[in-house]
Amino acid sequence: MLISKSLWFTPEAVRQHVYCPRITYFRYVDDTSVQMTIKMKKGVDDHEKTLRGKNTSNRRSNVIRYYNLRLENPYFRLYGLLDVAEVKDSEIYPVDRKTGKAPEHGVYRPHRFQLVAEAFLIEANFGRDVSKGVIEYRNAGRRVVILSIKDKLEFINILNKMRQVVSQEKLLKPTPHLRKCTDCEYWKKCRRV
Ligand code: SF4
Repeated sequence: MLISKSLWFTPEAVRQHVYCPRITYFRYVDDTSVQMTIKMKKGVDDHEKTLRGKNTSNRRSNVIRYYNLRLENPYFRLYGLLDVAEVKDSEIYPVDRKTGKAPEHGVYRPHRFQLVAEAFLIEANFGRDVSKGVIEYRNAGRRVVILSIKDKLEFINILNKMRQVVSQEKLLKPTPHLRKCTDCEYWKKCRRV
């Protein structure tokens, strides 16, 4: 399955696209700078404090955690800075930390597809299949996510849609979930019109 390779995206950009596909347009087509929201600043500060200062490797019982890995996947044109790649029982998988409120069960859909992007980054650099990921919600602890073939195929569709938005300068419909707009840094540009 061949995809267009005109642009490189980060797992975070994938997360934002799944949150609201309109964001890709504002981020990559109409790319004037925007102010960070309070929620975003909180996340950045938390990452600086808890993760960015850490060593690249930290051994704890039977788990090795590699912090702050900068990885690329040229086939999918993905790049990014991973919070953590964890190795346990010969398995390697991404772990991403979130400061926002956790869902009652599982993980939010944008977080699932951010993990799929990170899994592809690990696969390209470590030569191993990655079939799970973990979201560490600050208020709810670790949630393990199984990344199925279906998730990976859907991820490829998402990447293709992101590239269409950019190459065709397509402003997609606003998200149907109005409450998402409350915390969106692009509100002033978008206003759902
Ligand atoms: S304001 Fe709402 S519709 Fe517009 S980009 Fe943000 S989340 Fe999407």
